[in-house]
Formats: sequence, structure tokens, C-alpha cells
Amino acid sequence: MRKPIIAGNWKMNLTPLEGETLVKALIEKVADAKCDVVVCVPFVDIAPVAAAVKGTNIHVGAQNLHFKKSGAYTGEVSADMLKAVGAEYVIIGHSERRQYFAETDETVNLKTLFALENGLIPIVCVGESLAQRDAGETDGLVSMQVKAALKGLSAQDAQKVIIAYEPIWAIGTGRTATNEQADETIGVIRGAVAEAFGQETAEKIRIQYGGSMNAKNCQGLMQMPQIDGGLIGGASLKAEDFSIIVAAASDTVA
Ligand code: PEP
Repeated sequence: MRKPIIAGNWKMNLTPLEGETLVKALIEKVADAKCDVVVCVPFVDIAPVAAAVKGTNIHVGAQNLHFKKSGAYTGEVSADMLKAVGAEYVIIGHSERRQYFAETDETVNLKTLFALENGLIPIVCVGESLAQRDAGETDGLVSMQVKAALKGLSAQDAQKVIIAYEPIWAIGTGRTATNEQADETIGVIRGAVAEAFGQETAEKIRIQYGGSMNAKNCQGLMQMPQIDGGLIGGASLKAEDFSIIVAAASDTVA
């Protein structure tokens, strides 16, 4: 049985003070969660948010990292820096980073390897555009993206990775994949993991759905057998909505 994981992606929203206020409102609401709860926050929010959630069941993540230990990489942030301020997770290869910041399958792979080597849990995002879905390219594309992202990992390390299946057409658009579409494509991703690392790893790896998941549609998505949680953008900025999604994930745990 895979433990569901709900992760918020605040994107470029909330100052440190606003972030602290949000998590303080969240602490009580998710205290009884049976799933893992993570908030992936802007770099400058990590330290104050981590301090605010210390001793609770809320974990903190970043939204990016660099794949070198240190050096002349102006504007970048290293794994050691993230860990030092309290991050345990890091989102890698979000479609917004692939689209606006030239993230490639190769950099996603380097970052995934580097995060694991340095004790951070990667949340690796994959997903197709609407044109790719309409052209029937979804299964081939997400399989390729997942194999590229996890290239060079041992099966044991691959099991630590969280994959987020995020159809680009569903992110921030209010248009969610149907429960069946999300479940089917996540099944395809699990199949690709099985091809690369074997059945045991495919059974253990956790794969989230992301794309306009909210307080209204989360129950149906979370009930699907392949879906192990969610990566939540907009709805993670409201403590009440995010806690409803956490509760829906908790309800799937026996
Ligand atoms: C995301 O940014 O990963 C995301 C899924 O956003 P939203 O929930 O707003 O679609």
C-alpha cells in the first residue's frame, strides 16, 4: 500500500510573512492526516515556514535547485542551502520551468540525481500539452520523460522519487483531467517505471496527479487506484481548500 502524498506548489506567491500565516492556519487542519503533507514554497519562504511547522506533520519543499554543489552560478540555489534552511523535498521539472526557464529532460535528470545524492526528495513533474494529447502522443511522451528523468538511478533510489503527472492543459486552467484520464496515464507512467526498474519499484513509487485539483474534484481523483496524491497549485494557497484535499487523500488510507 503506497502512502498518499499531497504537496502544495505555491509558485511565485506569498511573502515570508504571508506564507507563515498560511501554514499556521493549516497546522491544526491537517494534524490528523494519514497522508504525507508538503508545502513547496518560494526560496525566501523556506526558513520561516519550516520554523513555523517545526514539530508538526507538515514538511517543506523548494520549487527548484541547481545540480552543482556550489560555485559561480549566479542566482542559483544548491541542495545544501535548501537543506540548511529546512527543505526536505524539491519540485523538479515543473512545466512552467520547462516552458519559461529552458528546463530540459537532461537538466531534470541531473537535478533528480543531485537531489537524491544530497538527501532531498525530488518531486519530478511530467506531462503533455493539449496538442500532444490530441495527437495521441501522451503515453509515449510521459514514458520517455519519466525514463529520462530517472536515468542512472538505482531501483532503490527510484523508489524514493515522487512523480507528478501534470497535463500542461490542466495546470492553472480550471480544466482537470477526468478521473479516468489521470488514472490511465499514471498507469502508463507506472508501466514505464516497471520497464526501467522492475515491477517492485513500479508498485512502490508514488505518482501524484496535478492540474486544477481542488476541494471539489479531489475526492474522485483520490479514489482512483493509480493516483497516490496530488501536486496542488492554486488550491494550496487557501488553508481550507488544501486541508479538504489532504482529508480526501487521508480517506483512501485504511
Ligand atoms: C501546479 O502548479 O503544479 C498545479 C497543478 O497548479 P494548479 O493546481 O493551479 O493547476
